[in-house]
Amino acid sequence: MKKRMIFAVLLAIGPLCAFSNTRAQDKKEAADLIVSGATVVTMDSERHVFEDGALAVKGDAIIAVGPSAEILTKYDPKRKIDAGGKLMMPGLINGHTHIPMVLMRGLIDDVTLDDWLRKYIFPAEARNVTEDYVRWGSRLALAEMIRGGTTTFADMYYFEDAEAEETKAAGLRGVLGETWIDFPAPDNKSEAEMAAYTEKFLKKWQGDPLIHAAVAPHSIYTCSEKTLRDAAALARKYHAPILIHVAEMRKELIDSLEKNGATPVQYLERIDVLGPDVVAAHCIWVDYTDMKILADRQVGCVHNPSSNMMLASGVAPVVDERAAGMRVGLGTDGPAGSNNDLDMMEEMDLAAKLQKINRVDPRALGAKGALEMATIEGARTLHLEKEIGSLEAGKKADFAILNLDVPSAVPMYDVYSQIVYALKASEVETVVVAGKTLLKDGKLLTVDEAKAMTKAKEYATKVRATLQQ
Ligand SMILES: [Zn+2]
Repeated sequence: MKKRMIFAVLLAIGPLCAFSNTRAQDKKEAADLIVSGATVVTMDSERHVFEDGALAVKGDAIIAVGPSAEILTKYDPKRKIDAGGKLMMPGLINGHTHIPMVLMRGLIDDVTLDDWLRKYIFPAEARNVTEDYVRWGSRLALAEMIRGGTTTFADMYYFEDAEAEETKAAGLRGVLGETWIDFPAPDNKSEAEMAAYTEKFLKKWQGDPLIHAAVAPHSIYTCSEKTLRDAAALARKYHAPILIHVAEMRKELIDSLEKNGATPVQYLERIDVLGPDVVAAHCIWVDYTDMKILADRQVGCVHNPSSNMMLASGVAPVVDERAAGMRVGLGTDGPAGSNNDLDMMEEMDLAAKLQKINRVDPRALGAKGALEMATIEGARTLHLEKEIGSLEAGKKADFAILNLDVPSAVPMYDVYSQIVYALKASEVETVVVAGKTLLKDGKLLTVDEAKAMTKAKEYATKVRATLQQ
């Protein structure tokens, strides 16, 4: 009797199970995009890597990352990208650059930083940099950055509002600082003008999902204490980031010791500039006290290996800085005179190798550490780690897909080693920022790069002529 009842119950449940299975499929969660089949390098806190991995996107954010089978069962996407055999990683973060300077790429190289700035670049900028120049320079640079897998960059230049508009149109994420400097700049001729321009700029972009408008006092050697304090006060009024060059040259350190009786970092600490809203480029000439201050103040520091080498500025003590608990990201600087390109793949490679040779120790900084500096640590450096820097649910959908079907990418034993020491920017095939595709299978979707290149050549003729005057 009992057995018969169980049998009857099973008969009744059977079709019910089948029914609930179909319902489960019907009830797949909606997603806008699924990328599947890739080797997914997440850079999450446990540094998960999924061999046949997938990522689901809804709106501008990642909703899930995991094995392809799991993600494809759970989500029903509007759009799919089959990334079988490819590599997916977080978009790279260029923590320090001056992108419109691409139009002066190669104009004058192989001179000292002081000469380069004062004899060539500042005069060339005074004669050539207009809003139109900044727009075309930005477009060219944005195309180059997208092609290299960069999804976020921090910039210091002039006419930064025009640069912000171009960045927004291209779909990249930017921390964009209007430069304050104690001489008439191409855009603003006095501190009053700088302050008025910057305040308008900060107000305009408040709350924008892609653009973080910032204030960029150039450095302690080009800004008075008043300029530095005023720039910081204005930034803090609007909760905006502060971008500045710090301890970049030995001359800067010597002059600061003489003039301020303090290192550049300790001088900035004394005048209340340092804080968790500051991004300091370079931090080369720093001692242990400086490192402790920078760590305690949660200042983001950006290492620029190409620039350190090209200008022979010295080598930032990145290994010690990381050990001291500092937030250390990676940048290209330049792209004129101090690097000449915006290639973050190359910068990771150089970052690791520069620390190795500097410490005569191949263990000094490894591939994984270099990739951290260009992704999750880069995000911490810009104080954006809650939004970007890794591929995990809740973060913005900013990522790059790289082709592994090239001789230099085969075989692959260690994914970090491959990314940093073997793969090139040319392997970047698809780039997505905030869920929007900017580069698809090698085709740029948001920037007219042919037109930007034509304009760049026209500008080169103009710039060369003004320098000969
Ligand atoms: Zn710089």
